[in-house]
This record gives sequence, C-alpha cells and structure tokens, in this order.
Amino acid sequence: MSDVSEFPYLPLEDAISAPFWEGTRNRRLLIQWCTQCHSFQWYPRAICISCAGDCLEWRSASGNATINSWTRVHRSPAEGFVPQYVIARVLLDENVLMLTRLVGEFADNPTCDAKVTVKWQELSDGRALPVFG
Ligand SMILES: [Zn+2]
Repeated sequence: MSDVSEFPYLPLEDAISAPFWEGTRNRRLLIQWCTQCHSFQWYPRAICISCAGDCLEWRSASGNATINSWTRVHRSPAEGFVPQYVIARVLLDENVLMLTRLVGEFADNPTCDAKVTVKWQELSDGRALPVFG
C-alpha cells in the first residue's frame, strides 16, 4: 500500500486560500467561520455559502473528523500519483465535509464512521496538505 510519500505537484494558492495555506506551514488546519450566521465552511470561498455574507474569518479546526465515505484508487489519475491510495470524505467535528486522503492503518482498512485525526503531507515549498489517519 502506497502511503503519501511525495505529492506530485504544488497546489495553487490564491488570495482567498492564502490564509489556509499559511496555516499549513505551521501545521494548523484553518477553516472559514462566518461571524454573521455562525457557521464553518470548507473549502475557502469569498462569501459564506449559508448566508452569502462576506464576514468570514479563519479559525483553527480541532483536526478531529469521522470518515464519511471513501474509495480506493487503483489507477493513477495523472502522472506522479502512485496507486493504490485511499481518497476519503471526512466530516470534521466542525460539521464540514473535507475531501482528503487516508494514511496509516486507515489507508489499509478504511471504515466509515471511524474517528480520524489530521496528519500532514509535506509539500516541497513548506506548505502541507491535510490528510487523515
Ligand atoms: Zn454566513
């Protein structure tokens, strides 16, 4: 089973996602919080998906999540991705869904409803991707 040893490209960073990426440099999982309707959201956006307001701030997520769904990738979708690996949708304790990759024992035996915590897949520029295991 291939764990994530090297990520094949550097994800794009823009003005909206920059605070998230900066957080990953310190291995902090930041997600947006709407101060108007009091809800979290993932992924980073310019406005709140619940109330369409723009009163968004960044807050640290607990890093705790539950596996909601998963699939094992058997064929490489692009150059540099080495199968097999497990893509999962996890529900953060903050009640937002995140698409991620499972690592460790959960990559070998993924189970829906299992509790997982954030780990970090390092990128070559100092940022990191949140993965779970
Ligand atoms: Zn809102």
